[in-house]
Amino acid sequence: MIDYQRRPPVLVLEKVAKEFDGHPPVQVLHNVNLTVSQGELIAVVGPSGSGKSTLLSLVGTLDRPTSGSIHLEGHDLTGLNDRQVAALRAHRIGFVFQQFFLLPGLTTVENVATGLLYTGETAKRRVERAKSALREVGLAHRLGHRPDQLSGGEKQRVAIARALVGKPGLLLADEPTGALDAVSGKGVIDLLLELNAQGTTVVVITHDRDLAASLPRRIGLEDGRVAFDVSDASPNADFSVAQGGAA
Ligand code: ADP
Ligand code: MG
Repeated sequence: MIDYQRRPPVLVLEKVAKEFDGHPPVQVLHNVNLTVSQGELIAVVGPSGSGKSTLLSLVGTLDRPTSGSIHLEGHDLTGLNDRQVAALRAHRIGFVFQQFFLLPGLTTVENVATGLLYTGETAKRRVERAKSALREVGLAHRLGHRPDQLSGGEKQRVAIARALVGKPGLLLADEPTGALDAVSGKGVIDLLLELNAQGTTVVVITHDRDLAASLPRRIGLEDGRVAFDVSDASPNADFSVAQGGAA
């Protein structure tokens, strides 16, 4: 069993709260404390409106908390300006969303290559890497297609290729199978599992109970609070061994 505790944390959230302006203001997250270690594979579950997407956008640096602190790979995000945060995001985080968000006028290769715009690599190199990422997700035969020529499952594979092409340490997926049929959804999940097996830390929001149950750690949100955070890498298992296996 992998001992996550010995690896450096990818993410540390301390007393994170998020409030949106309004009359009255909406408090969406309350006092969220979380540590995510390198190589983890985590399901985030909870009712609609419980704050899952908001949490993912804070963790993904797309938005900032109202209070509390977030450390990403040792960087305190509070201490970074927007440009520094954007650079960190571009290099270290990959996103996959339910709605794919592919650019309609671009081919799959061009869509994936946009994931490398911030790297400073030449266009030729970006295209090479995009092709290689598309091969990794099983789309070598769809390089010149545009999004409207692809199935839902294929679109999500393109989105995953775009997310992974820059080799991010952290992949964040918000209901990536929400718009897919069961078979395409399974293909997408298998891909996420494979990326995790290669070392990428993966956090996936899902409504799929079976999927959540199959992942080693499950974080449940309710009304903007962490209602549970359970891990199969249970310290109790190690404890019983340390006690001479008596159980
Ligand atoms: P989930 O992903 O769990 O369904 P969200 O994080 O999308 O939940 O939303 C949680 C709550 O925050 C909802 O009540 C939603 O209406 C509210 N909310 C989300 N974004 C905003 C925003 N930009 N302004 C105001 N309220 C928001
Ligand atoms: Mg959501």
